[in-house]
Amino acid sequence: MSFSAGSLRGGGAVDHRLARQHLINEYRRGRLRQDQVCDAHPELLRVARNFGEETKTTCPICTEDKLVLVTYVFGPHLPSHGRCVTQRSEMAQIQRRANTSAADYTAYVVEACRTCKWHHLLRAVPIVGRARRSA
Ligand SMILES: [Zn+2]
Repeated sequence: MSFSAGSLRGGGAVDHRLARQHLINEYRRGRLRQDQVCDAHPELLRVARNFGEETKTTCPICTEDKLVLVTYVFGPHLPSHGRCVTQRSEMAQIQRRANTSAADYTAYVVEACRTCKWHHLLRAVPIVGRARRSA
């Protein structure tokens, strides 16, 4: 099982917040087991534990830990499993590259719980090259 954009739950949803809330509700109603919603990819968990940006939001599933945010960027010349961006300077570098090559990159911001392995996509943000935007 290799890590890819498909490993980020919610990637196919039109409205990530709605999809997220739906999952949480289904879990709370007992229609989903914890292991069905808390199945973060080991790579995502590793990054979350080492580089995750801690939020003030309590995990909606286990309520024992704070959620952390992890940002992955997918696009041309990046590994197929994406690049985990942990520093602002790294993001700036990708933005510059998008500008010069007019390539499209997408940043996926994922929330994850280091304790119960809950994870969900919060937002997908397109990073569009400036050259293309002005065309
Ligand atoms: Zn949790």
